[in-house]
Amino acid sequence: MENLPEFRNEGYTDFSQPAHRQAMEEALDAVRARFGREYRLRIGSEWISTDDKLESLNPSNAKEIVGIHHKATPELARRAVECASAFFPQWSRTPAAERVRMLIDAARILRRRKMEFDAWLAYEAGKTWPEAEADVSEAIDFCEYYAREMQRLACPQKVHQLAGEQDEMVYLPLGVGIVIPPWNFPLAILVGMTVASLVTGNTVILKPSSETPTIAAQFAEVLLEAGFPERSFTILTGSGSVVGDVLVEHPKTRFVSFTGSRDVGLRINELAAKPQKGQVWIKRVIAEMGGKDAIIVDGDSDLDRAVDGVVASAFGYQGQKCSACSRAIVDAKVYEPFLEKLAGKVKAISVGPSDDPRHYMGPVISESARKSILQYIETGKREGRLVAGGGPVPGDGYFIAPTVIADVEPTARIFQEEIFGPVLAVSKARDFDHALQLANDSEYGLTGAVFSLDDEHLGRAKEQFHVGNLYFNRKCTGAMVGAHPFGGFNMSGTDSKAGGPDYLLLFLQAKSIARKVG
Ligand code: NAP
Repeated sequence: MENLPEFRNEGYTDFSQPAHRQAMEEALDAVRARFGREYRLRIGSEWISTDDKLESLNPSNAKEIVGIHHKATPELARRAVECASAFFPQWSRTPAAERVRMLIDAARILRRRKMEFDAWLAYEAGKTWPEAEADVSEAIDFCEYYAREMQRLACPQKVHQLAGEQDEMVYLPLGVGIVIPPWNFPLAILVGMTVASLVTGNTVILKPSSETPTIAAQFAEVLLEAGFPERSFTILTGSGSVVGDVLVEHPKTRFVSFTGSRDVGLRINELAAKPQKGQVWIKRVIAEMGGKDAIIVDGDSDLDRAVDGVVASAFGYQGQKCSACSRAIVDAKVYEPFLEKLAGKVKAISVGPSDDPRHYMGPVISESARKSILQYIETGKREGRLVAGGGPVPGDGYFIAPTVIADVEPTARIFQEEIFGPVLAVSKARDFDHALQLANDSEYGLTGAVFSLDDEHLGRAKEQFHVGNLYFNRKCTGAMVGAHPFGGFNMSGTDSKAGGPDYLLLFLQAKSIARKVG
């Protein structure tokens, strides 16, 4: 196997450098010139047109069509599974070293096209430059990290040797995988789930989010250029509610790797559990779902740092991260000064088109998201005290002011329900125990953070704050591949720890072989 250097996270482009700013402006122009292109479906080597089209829009200016995509039908979904199933025997026997080489090549191509992808993310997903850059960098990290992980898992695994036997254990791919990502990390999560499936030797049907199909289409080009065979993966653009059930229920589907909302994840889990006629396995479901993430601000903490951490976690990418802080739980001793500092910072946030680097916040993803978030804001105004924001921001896109609502009780809807937008509930805790109790008062358990200078409190949080990703004295977003394996507890999912050493095992099955000797 190729000797790869030790894994390192991809560096971020520094946009304060004039040369980089100019390169990004050029990338934005080049991508804009490709707006409105049509993308057909491809199954194997066959290109397919359908009558029903999906238009993806620029959320910063909803009059602009980023891409037009031919939508899959249930019949095409079945055909895609059959195609993936037919190619699985060949792909699964392709040496791991070759699959690893393709993945390293995919990382290289993504790196070469980095600013172009940044621009697609700015236009189709409404990401600001730094947010887009973080997304593309994470996608590269997933490729590099999983390539190395596959090398590790392709080696002979250590098992105890019985006297008179040669004992071994090897990892085998599972079969046809359905990969269903969300729109909010339209490159990183899509890439992570797809390449984990492929590098382990599975064939894939990738159903991208209907909000961000153009980014998926660009990534398909990367995979093909890197040498992944046409039949190893299909990008099946189409409505989740139309083709999702067909893909999940198909008897030749072996596993589903899903990231998205709680309700869709639970539905997939339920459908996948029911064996279909002719099915000879229990389908595996890897489901990463929503969050209602809390940051605790202790009575003894660096308040300025806590405010910065909460602002970045709550309003980065408009609060549309599963890891976003949507509840700040603040010790009564520092509650009022914290709120005052927080309100000052939040009111200074500029909101506008995400391709303009002057804005810290861009638009939310769609008209329906905008409506739902604004409704939550109205509910929040009744459930607490409005401290900042509180409504839409004028413009051609789906802009919402960063909103803070204080004095929120744990029974409030805005304390319990995932809003997935720039809305922060702030609640007062009597003391640290009460803060922990409030933080854990949620059906979710994805990320959390504690700002405290008290080691005993941090030790207690380590034991009792029930989340998959816990951070101390820093923001609760921005998990780094390799350092912060990512996945949540409870209704946040199956805790699959993407970007960690356990992840690829979810796409493999172990075979134990014992040979009598002598
Ligand atoms: P979503 O509405 O659940 O959609 C996710 C994906 O599922 C999309 O590709 C969607 O396709 C598809 N889908 C919809 N209905 C389906 C069905 N019946 N069967 C199969 N697939 C179906 O979630 P989203 O709005 O894209 O993403 C936001 C959610 O993702 C939030 O809850 C967020 O917390 C969560 N998230 C979690 C993590 C994590 O790691 N835990 C990371 C990121 C996001 P269409 O677009 O065609 O409907």
